[in-house]
Amino acid sequence: MSNTPRVTVWNEYRHEKTHEEVANVYPNGIHNAIAEYLKQQGLSVQTATLDEPEHGLTEEVLDNTDVLTWWGHMAHGDVSDAIVQRVKDRVLDGKLGLVVLHSGHFSKIFKSLMGTTCNLKWHEIAEKERIWVVEKSHPIAEGLPDYFELEHEEMYGEHFGIPAPDELVFLGWFQSGYVFRSGCCFHRGNGRIFYFQPGHETYPNFYNENVRKVIYNAIKWAAPKFQAPPLYGHFPGSLEA
Ligand code: ZN
Repeated sequence: MSNTPRVTVWNEYRHEKTHEEVANVYPNGIHNAIAEYLKQQGLSVQTATLDEPEHGLTEEVLDNTDVLTWWGHMAHGDVSDAIVQRVKDRVLDGKLGLVVLHSGHFSKIFKSLMGTTCNLKWHEIAEKERIWVVEKSHPIAEGLPDYFELEHEEMYGEHFGIPAPDELVFLGWFQSGYVFRSGCCFHRGNGRIFYFQPGHETYPNFYNENVRKVIYNAIKWAAPKFQAPPLYGHFPGSLEA
């Protein structure tokens, strides 16, 4: 734990290998587009992908990770339950922050931590999105304007089947009229989770300066803070406290 979080950028990394349209936008994969920026910001960054052994999330990798970012879409079902549990245990223990991106809303790890469907409505018609900052004093909104726009993004619309977020930082408005809780903070156990909606694989929004700033801010927010180890269970009491 330090002021400079150690980040692992996890990506499913299947679309980029099978869809030319996606490979054209992210020739080195979504993970490297994100990791490259975070490295420029001085963070210690490694990447991991689904098809690596243990999905790249070995005990050793996670022991050296303060914050994990998660992008997945077409292969949520291929993520092993044991690895999901390994990540979840660390989040609940307050040892690992989690930043879930875009279609990661349907990942096993996010659904498991939320305990709800995490379902939503969607369409993809190359529309504009305007992302409003609705909690201006929140650290994840630091350095952002009142709102910023993405030229094209996939529409994710309410209702979003999540528990009420502990803090709502961003509200997305789409050209087709839908709105979405686009930036949501959750506390689970001793850990922190942030969900951020932009990042459809055919649009270059992981190169967008404001999207990148949000991810960076979210990593700082989600990073484990110093916590005295919790004391659970029975222990002898004294009337002379
Ligand atoms: Zn998408």
